[in-house]
Amino acid sequence: MKVIVLGAGIIGVSTAWHLLERGHEVVVVDRQPDAALETSFANAAQISVSYCEPWANRDAPLKMLKWMFSKEAPLLFRPQLDWQQWRWGLQFLGQCNDAAFERNVQQIVALGAYSHAALKDVVSATGIEYQRLERGIAHYYTDQKSFDTAGDAAALMRKYGVARKVVSREELFQIEPAFKSFAHRIVGGTFTPSDESGDARLFTQQLAKRCQARGAQFMYGHDIARLNQAGGAIESIAVCARGTGERSQKAQKAQKDQKDQEIKADAVVVACGSYSAPLLRTVGVDLPIYPGKGYSATFKLKKPELAPYVSTIDDEVKCAMSRLGDHLRVAGTIELGGYDHSLDTPLAKARCRMLANRIEEVLPGVCDTRTEEEGGQPHFWTGLRPATPTNIPYIGKTKVGRLWVNAGHGTLGWTHGAGSGKAMAELISGETPAMNFGFYGLQRPNPRLTTSAA
Ligand SMILES: Cc1cc2nc3c(=O)[nH]c(=O)nc-3n(C[C@H](O)[C@H](O)[C@H](O)COP(=O)(O)OP(=O)(O)OC[C@H]3O[C@@H](n4cnc5c(N)ncnc54)[C@H](O)[C@@H]3O)c2cc1C
Repeated sequence: MKVIVLGAGIIGVSTAWHLLERGHEVVVVDRQPDAALETSFANAAQISVSYCEPWANRDAPLKMLKWMFSKEAPLLFRPQLDWQQWRWGLQFLGQCNDAAFERNVQQIVALGAYSHAALKDVVSATGIEYQRLERGIAHYYTDQKSFDTAGDAAALMRKYGVARKVVSREELFQIEPAFKSFAHRIVGGTFTPSDESGDARLFTQQLAKRCQARGAQFMYGHDIARLNQAGGAIESIAVCARGTGERSQKAQKAQKDQKDQEIKADAVVVACGSYSAPLLRTVGVDLPIYPGKGYSATFKLKKPELAPYVSTIDDEVKCAMSRLGDHLRVAGTIELGGYDHSLDTPLAKARCRMLANRIEEVLPGVCDTRTEEEGGQPHFWTGLRPATPTNIPYIGKTKVGRLWVNAGHGTLGWTHGAGSGKAMAELISGETPAMNFGFYGLQRPNPRLTTSAA
């Protein structure tokens, strides 16, 4: 079969890899000059099978109201004149109850476990190096009331096979001594030894190279202009080469006169992250995937000997930190305010500075958090998480013939990348992925299948 994969983020590239494994001919289209240059570029680096609770929970509505006017709010709803945003918001509210929360957790854990196993297989088959650390993920609390409820979330995870355990502050410092410098604030934590961390961009770009070496064609620098539909099925896709920079102004003019290139295939997979929703809507497939803007800051380590190896979540500000070689990445916050990539607005600057200030507070003097004006070289970044109200992605077959979707991975696309790619390739090949998951347009979760955490 010939399959076109639209999007070369972690999801598209993993899909391509697993399609090649099954002997398909693969073409990948992406507007960027390389793989993983949008949301998969600089995320928090966590392979987080266990820390996977969706944002939609019974406390979320009240918290969101409280946070509406705070620049540093972990979850910020910025109202727009956009029906899609409001509809998404209403559907999100519909998930803010205990029954939906547990139902969603169950599926997210199933996909996480499946994906962790798939990631390990890809790594052992390819030998890709991506600053991987198999040291687990810890979560520390600075508020006694929040820590008191940590046991409930850990118990829920254990119910679905994830070994998350509550640890005292002393146990936490044994697991990760780096946080002793913040001991006066930490009241306790949780820890899952089986989780890990690593650089999603490095992994995705190297996997893309291996796909190319196995014969996949990567059409970088191409916009997806159209999905051409006839008789209820995709007939072809139209792509258009992009001009970049000043040098290409002539090329851009030439390109205007040039016709779009039409490509035909037996199947087309939409894996365009947050941009999947508007693209799919052009052919009548309406999915609630909305951009959830997040930020990361990557700092050079000044004192590597004092920096953590265990990837960690800071409960108070809801940010995650991971060591990537001689750098520390800290990332977090979610802003629902449209397709906005800006880093230079007062709000974006405040959120980036918040990450830097927090690192200085938790790990004083460990990272070079100086601003550029002060002579530092911080790397601030923003990405649009393809968020769904449930935090469950859409993996499956659309009502349009030959059109498949693998998108909506929200806060966990790196964790779920390998497994989502594998499951998509299996479905296209007529196989049934061995996990208890509700594939879009195909089947309800299969209660007879059981999964356990990797
Ligand atoms: C701050 C932050 C921290 C995060 N931390 C973690 C974490 O620790 N662990 C975790 O598991 N996940 C994390 N995530 C989530 C994860 O990064 C995303 O879920 C994942 O990157 C989504 O991958 P994707 O392939 O769907 O999208 P993308 O990586 O955005 O890929 C989509 C691709 O489609 C292409 N594309 C889109 N539209 C078009 C078009 N019209 N024409 C041509 N090409 C197009 C884009 O160029 C892009 O390359 C985090 C996200 C953020 C923002």
